[in-house]
Amino acid sequence: MPDAAAPESLATPVAMYRLALDDAPGAHQAPPAPDDRAWMEPLLQQNAVWFCRLRWIVIAVLGAAGVAGFFPQPLRALGLAISPGWPLTAAAVLVSLNLVFVSVIRHAASAHRRVSVRLLLWAQIISDLLVLTAVIHWLGHRLPAAPFMYLFHVILACIVFSAGESLGVAGLAAAFYMLSLGLESLGWLNPSSVLIPETQAEAGVPGALPGLRLVSMLVILVVIWYLVSRLAGAVRFRDRELFIANRRLRASIEERSRHMLQTTHQLKAPFASIHAQCQLLLGDYCGSLPPRARATVEKISARCLVLARQIQEMLQLANLRSQGQTPPPARPVDLGKLIEEATLRIEPTARQRFVRIEKEIHPVTVQAVEDHLTMLVDNLLVNAVNYSHDHGVVQVACQPRNSGEVLIVIRDQGIGIPKEKLPRIFDDYYRTEEAVQHNRGSTGLGLAIVRQVACANHVPITVESAPGWGTRFTVTLPGASAVLQPSPPTINN
Ligand code: ADP
Repeated sequence: MPDAAAPESLATPVAMYRLALDDAPGAHQAPPAPDDRAWMEPLLQQNAVWFCRLRWIVIAVLGAAGVAGFFPQPLRALGLAISPGWPLTAAAVLVSLNLVFVSVIRHAASAHRRVSVRLLLWAQIISDLLVLTAVIHWLGHRLPAAPFMYLFHVILACIVFSAGESLGVAGLAAAFYMLSLGLESLGWLNPSSVLIPETQAEAGVPGALPGLRLVSMLVILVVIWYLVSRLAGAVRFRDRELFIANRRLRASIEERSRHMLQTTHQLKAPFASIHAQCQLLLGDYCGSLPPRARATVEKISARCLVLARQIQEMLQLANLRSQGQTPPPARPVDLGKLIEEATLRIEPTARQRFVRIEKEIHPVTVQAVEDHLTMLVDNLLVNAVNYSHDHGVVQVACQPRNSGEVLIVIRDQGIGIPKEKLPRIFDDYYRTEEAVQHNRGSTGLGLAIVRQVACANHVPITVESAPGWGTRFTVTLPGASAVLQPSPPTINN
């Protein structure tokens, strides 16, 4: 038997399409929020990350100031005297703090632990305020804009925290500033300045009185806090309303699809019964049928089968979507046996269409969700047979690779798929015109199920196809979970 997975050099250009594993509907469904406050948590988490990013910028600025300090001549021309020690020490302290914060955030995210994000933000703000107080002292009182750098923190706090908490941050900033002024007044801290005094007299002038500096600073802090916290409060109120409206909408959509699912489920039994009654009529159990009536009953029976299949696929798809991103636990699955059973199920249809199935199955065990894998293989096999020409050949291979990955390859020589239609074949209810003509029983749901399974289990799938060449689906099952068993492959045609 030719290798189903082997590359073929044919005159027909074969188009290739890789299924994106993150675009299945429902793949990103977040679990419903437990309470109304839950909307704040992700926001706080994002802000904790954002703070760390901003801190890298501050570190870069301080680092640049420190490096500039090694070149006093050009700085003197600008009226500046920077000793490199201060900014470099502040930058080093911030780097260590940032590394700690980043690793705490990562650890919390990877271990899915509920580290208090609020506490983490407070730790970030307090340590930043301490470093900022040192930097403001270093910049010196002759740079009047320096203390206003506290405003950045107050504004950030208003965005992140409630009005009360952000007032706390403003109070903390004022307290730290007061402390540094106090220590300076008591002579416990030497005054410092990055500005070179123009005259001797200017050097001795202490600038505005510490009390006056403090009061003006406090007034501005409180005014900014009031304005920004009011604005931030209004935005947060709208955010919360949006969050609640979104949750209600999701709940009503879920309710509607549950209702649809129930209705669909209830249709299963009537169709099964109509099909059974048709079989009774066709088997002449109710007397022999005239030829025209027989033809009509045969049509009814065939439509019933298609509808029953469509209902089953709709239910499968809805079930997969309701599982979202958390599929049932994976267990060891005998992949060889699973594929053998799938080919047995499709055998009668293949025989009807005079399609031969060639198998090359290596016994291999993979860690997977068995039901999901069965749905995936069934749907790909059904398509391979349905879209084959009469007397065609479908090759099914299951091959372990040296990398440890296991490939499932299903190759047919059927009608193929035009290149421009390949990206759409995994969409719900999508069918190419060629497919509808070739297979009247197509539903357009088989590959949507395949996509849902592939996305939920992170299983890459590639499709190569061309009209006149046929189609090859390659499913790559992850290697780490594959356990190879030392027995020879079974090859049968
Ligand atoms: P269905 O086969 O019921 O129409 P699917 O979702 O399984 O629905 O497939 C979607 C479309 O993808 C099909 O209508 C067909 O156009 C195309 N397709 C899938 N598999 C094959 C294949 N092996 N050969 C040719 N076309 C295929």
